[in-house]
Amino acid sequence: MPRLTIDGREVVCADGQTLLAALEAAGVGVPHLCHDARLQSYGSCRLCVVEVEGHARPVASCAEPAVEGMVVHTHTPALERLRRTNLQLLAVDYPAAAVEAEPQLPLHRLLTGYGIEVGGSVPTGATRFVDDTHPYLGVDMTRCIHCDRCVRICDEVQGQSVWQIWGRGPQTRIAPRVGQTLIESGCVACGACVDTCPSGALHDKRSVENAERWTRTTCVYCGVGCQMDVGTRDNRIVQIRPADAPVNRGHLCVKGRYAWEFVTAPDRVTTPMIRREGEWQPVSWDEALDFTAAQLRAIRDRAGPDAIGLLGSARATNEENYLMQKLARVALGTHNVDTCARVCHTPSAKALKDMLGTGAATNHFDDIEQAATILLCGCNPTECHPVVGARIKQAVRRGARLIVIDPRRIELADYAELHLALTPGTNVLLLNALAATIVEEGLVDAAYLSARVDDFDAFSAFIRDYAPERVAQRCGVGAGQIRAAARLYASHGPAMCFHGLGTTEHLQGAEGVMCLINLALLTGNLGRPGAGINPLRGQNNVQGGAHMGCDPATLPGGQSFQQGAPRCEAVWGRPLPARRGLNLMEMIDAAADGRLHALWAFGYDIYLTLANAQATAAALDKLDLLIVQDLYLNETAKAFGTVFLPAASWIERDGTFMNSDRRVQRIRKALDAPGQARPDWWILRELARRVGDGTGFDFASPQAIWDEVRAVWPGGAGLSYARLERENPHWPCPDEQHPGTPVLHIDRFAGFERAALRRIDHVPSPEQCDADFPLLLNTGRTLYHFNAGTMSARTPQTALQPTDVLDIGEEDAQRMGLVDGQTVRVISRHGAVELPLRVSATVKPGELFASFHDARRFVNRLTSPVRDRLVGTPEYKRTAVRVEKI
Ligand code: SF4
Repeated sequence: MPRLTIDGREVVCADGQTLLAALEAAGVGVPHLCHDARLQSYGSCRLCVVEVEGHARPVASCAEPAVEGMVVHTHTPALERLRRTNLQLLAVDYPAAAVEAEPQLPLHRLLTGYGIEVGGSVPTGATRFVDDTHPYLGVDMTRCIHCDRCVRICDEVQGQSVWQIWGRGPQTRIAPRVGQTLIESGCVACGACVDTCPSGALHDKRSVENAERWTRTTCVYCGVGCQMDVGTRDNRIVQIRPADAPVNRGHLCVKGRYAWEFVTAPDRVTTPMIRREGEWQPVSWDEALDFTAAQLRAIRDRAGPDAIGLLGSARATNEENYLMQKLARVALGTHNVDTCARVCHTPSAKALKDMLGTGAATNHFDDIEQAATILLCGCNPTECHPVVGARIKQAVRRGARLIVIDPRRIELADYAELHLALTPGTNVLLLNALAATIVEEGLVDAAYLSARVDDFDAFSAFIRDYAPERVAQRCGVGAGQIRAAARLYASHGPAMCFHGLGTTEHLQGAEGVMCLINLALLTGNLGRPGAGINPLRGQNNVQGGAHMGCDPATLPGGQSFQQGAPRCEAVWGRPLPARRGLNLMEMIDAAADGRLHALWAFGYDIYLTLANAQATAAALDKLDLLIVQDLYLNETAKAFGTVFLPAASWIERDGTFMNSDRRVQRIRKALDAPGQARPDWWILRELARRVGDGTGFDFASPQAIWDEVRAVWPGGAGLSYARLERENPHWPCPDEQHPGTPVLHIDRFAGFERAALRRIDHVPSPEQCDADFPLLLNTGRTLYHFNAGTMSARTPQTALQPTDVLDIGEEDAQRMGLVDGQTVRVISRHGAVELPLRVSATVKPGELFASFHDARRFVNRLTSPVRDRLVGTPEYKRTAVRVEKI
């Protein structure tokens, strides 16, 4: 580590640091404008110049490596004169009114600090770009000082390359590379350019007020778990900025950064309500809680505890999900508790737990930069997990090789060496064909297999039937492409796999994930950095919801009953129910046939989001009691709710979320909840006290709940709130001194010495095309909205994507005489919806794609009753349909 002398003081700096980073680490401030720690050194503004003894001229400290023995002077009179001159040149045309209006901006602070008065000739619109078309980003290039940070951050962090430097010399200007406006440019509104711009040339249009307070918290949308600073004023959010945290490194996506208005949506319900004679009536909390508890007790006494089902929430905290499952098991006496993980990544958890011993991602996001090859299977990170998507793009730009397995030509397919555009529902065929190639061509890691894997001989014999040439036609991918992908994955390691719901939401979802694990076992791509099998979890806390025990077969900490029952029973002070519990889909079935009488869902619109909506409706309609706990009257509440309990939003309460790569991260209260809305943990605690004898629910805060979680979950014992204030280690983290476990299975698998390869045959989905239903519909999420749209549809995101659309290939559109923009009727064997059409090059002939965010479209009226064979996850990704003109 180099030793430097800075302004007469000796300091030691880290290896590889620039001089500017070393100065900042030593607490020595030097001004700069073109520098941003997220970007490569640029050295153009010349404000960070310092004198280094032995150098003839001042050097730009942002571009100068810190080396042993440097003697540095940072604020000599000559340097200050030079900085002032450079600043004057940068701001020669700068508008004075801007400095006056926003004195806090970095450029303006420097101008004021150096006593520079601006206000010369303000450039005209002829050479500068002013754009007010975007709902979030404002552009006024009369304030551009050509630090080029916007251009560079869009390239180097987001990878979108929206901005371009046009012209030369005095005519230089920055404007979109494509189109006349930002809306036309392909901008994904991550806000990174706004965030880095030092002058306000790019600005958040809605952030017109300065925040009074900033609160560090975790994003409420996807499972990446980005950290953010929320600026508030007068009990309102006025701005959100990315935090420089390990997960997101100072970056956010459009949802995390801008989609917050749902908190103050006009239809937010802030009073408890009971539906009487078909009408919702506002009531007091006491009345709502007493009524609900009395109904639950009556059903339990009449039909037994298993006549009640409870659903945790991917949008709620770990503490609240823990409380929900404890309420089920302890206060009510049933294992009927599940979450929406059932309809997304329970197949991943099942496969990973069964084959490797831990039902979660094997590696962490930092391994994206370690991977030599990245395999994406059925996930679309740039839309659904955008900050991870951006990191993958950058990794490919730096040399990582990319394989995309997806029926659609997703954005990352353009970055991929190989795009295997399989037919939806043929994952097992294709993944087995990759395995067959690896075995046949001797690409296995023999040493790894010998040391850690069983059943290779039996697997080798089995997998011969899946040689690429045998399955190519059925899975829709050429044998040559399959072999090329297998060779790349197996021989250019470490190879890291991410998968999503395109893998799991199938008849063979869990088995598809097992096939991916087979690939990793065959090639030794487990237990090392830059490798592994990593489900990209959809919602902010879907990992935590199930991990806290909202799963009929799992206790908190992802523990099996065998592992966790003694500990839970000791802490909870009573035996666990002896009967097996129902999962979410089994609860729906039980409601349909009259075995389930009550259902309680919080932060979850089950009617809108479950597949095969008609069957869901018929089941929910039979319930005696449906408790909905949410921010709004969602579609479930509107159609079937009995009681509505108004909850606090994520920014109105404390707790923790668990992200996709096994970090537990704090969320923190920054606003008071409106009206009578209460945090979910408070509502659950009050109902637990009224339903049972109250023992074991005497929690005064989320922290008290979390401390009990740590007592029943050995792998989380080291994650105290005090520690989570400083860092977010990956679990397992069994004690406060443990550094956490970013990579699983390094020396041994959790729970067993050796893993075994699984021999999985392809089973065709019952959902097949025929003359009446000739097209295959695939459904999924998009960039601007989130799942059921409960939050994002109550924000200006609707200006960027007003509704769901049906993507169809040009060939099919022409054949059917359909044109872009027209509304069509889509009909499956299970229902019909109307959707506007978009002719798109992303879908193949014979296939369609639609998102499912808009309750008015209700795309799940189309999806089928087919479910995963092992865990019951609906097959959202394959429905036979036809399209009719209206
Ligand atoms: Fe939020 Fe996910 Fe976007 Fe990060 S990538 S800001 S966690 S939605």
